[in-house]
Amino acid sequence: MRRLSSPAMLTPEQLAALVRTVPDFPQPGIQFRDITTLIGNGEGFAACVAHLANRAEAAGAEAIAGMEARGFIFGAAVAARLGLGFIPVRKPGKLPVPVLALDYALEYGTDTLEIDPTGIAPGQRVVMIDDLIATGGTACASAALLRQAGARVDHALFVIDLPDLGGAARLRAEGIAVDALIAFAGD
Ligand code: AMP
Repeated sequence: MRRLSSPAMLTPEQLAALVRTVPDFPQPGIQFRDITTLIGNGEGFAACVAHLANRAEAAGAEAIAGMEARGFIFGAAVAARLGLGFIPVRKPGKLPVPVLALDYALEYGTDTLEIDPTGIAPGQRVVMIDDLIATGGTACASAALLRQAGARVDHALFVIDLPDLGGAARLRAEGIAVDALIAFAGD
């Protein structure tokens, strides 16, 4: 059986080449970094999950939180690979129980995130995973919600960082170490 962590695993540079860039989506001026083509490539998806799982394990993850919707794809796969629980950070109105909720600003527009706080043990080290960090609004709101629920949040992992948009720096200012497999200059 092929080992996912074998030396043949695709490198971050090779993963970057699998990301499709769509100009002016969902609105003019946005360079949309589309991971559909990355996860559609079996080797690419497996390598992403393996790289992220290695980093989550090194960070001492006790649970993985993923942000709806693309954070679910990578976060859930990493959690299963490490045998950890997965905490979905959801869009509003999806969870059938009382929630903690927070409004936040996106690179384009605004949104709300919700979590079920009963899924988090006091002091549990939760590593956050999403496909991409841009302004950091989503990740900062997620960290605030998880912390409000009692989690210890000191690491966040992304497939893609857009460093020029400042999100990683914003998250670091909240005391959260940020690691991304790929960085794209510009927005
Ligand atoms: P932000 O809250 O600004 O860090 O935005 C991060 C979230 O919005 C992530 O969940 C991404 O999926 C999505 N997103 C923001 N900007 C882009 C972009 N340029 N390309 C693809 N996805 C993006």
